[in-house]
Amino acid sequence: MDIAHNLEIVRRNINQAALKSGRQPSEIKLVAVTKQVEVTRIEEAIRLGITALGENQVQELVDKYRKITAPVEWHLIGTLQTNKVKYILDKVRLIHSLDRWALAEEISRRAIRLGKEISVLIQVNVAGEATKHGLEVAVTEEFIQEVANLPGLKVLGLMTMAPQVNDPEEVRPVFRELRQLAARIAGRQLKGVAMDWLSMGMTNDYLVAIEEGANLVRIGTGIFGERNQKGETKRE
Ligand SMILES: *Cc1c(COP(=O)(O)O)cnc(C)c1O
Repeated sequence: MDIAHNLEIVRRNINQAALKSGRQPSEIKLVAVTKQVEVTRIEEAIRLGITALGENQVQELVDKYRKITAPVEWHLIGTLQTNKVKYILDKVRLIHSLDRWALAEEISRRAIRLGKEISVLIQVNVAGEATKHGLEVAVTEEFIQEVANLPGLKVLGLMTMAPQVNDPEEVRPVFRELRQLAARIAGRQLKGVAMDWLSMGMTNDYLVAIEEGANLVRIGTGIFGERNQKGETKRE
């Protein structure tokens, strides 16, 4: 897979979708999802201008964090187990997957101990899929209101994963609903809560997501090529 070529396409698409939704391309942040991608290929992407990496597993993030010395931002985009919080708080710029109270408490406790304020997004399961993590839309506002009282962490927005569909138009309402939810929450002006980021859109649906207001997209396959069943990326 030619990373340079793929990135060119992704960036062009992002630019077009941004303009189509009345925003500047520079307002859209691209997080390259590097799960199961080898370090040498990640370093190639960094040379091509990638500045933010997303991993969905703690162990993999920690391993790569040691190996990759370039000054990039690390994003934890996958489910986070409470007992693994301690391994990543000193490494990540943003946790995209806060979805339960026990996890919020653990982040808060560890953050205070570190003397750091941790930025988090609240993961919302907009489509209500049983297989996906995230809070139900109906309880998200209340959850955020409670999390806002915890010291050591600040809520900077919302994240969702849309159902996998062949035609991304089918999931447009999912993205729209997340944006509307963010607007409602922003309107309440809770202390310690900002709705700066809407993390939505992956390889199959990022154009629609941006059109619906995403300003942070998480793209893996579109940059690095398909991951195979066993988890390694395919080589050519
Ligand atoms: C794997 C993953 C992505 C990227 O998926 P692609 O389809 O490869 O772009 C984005 N977000 C999360 C949470 C993921 O686990």
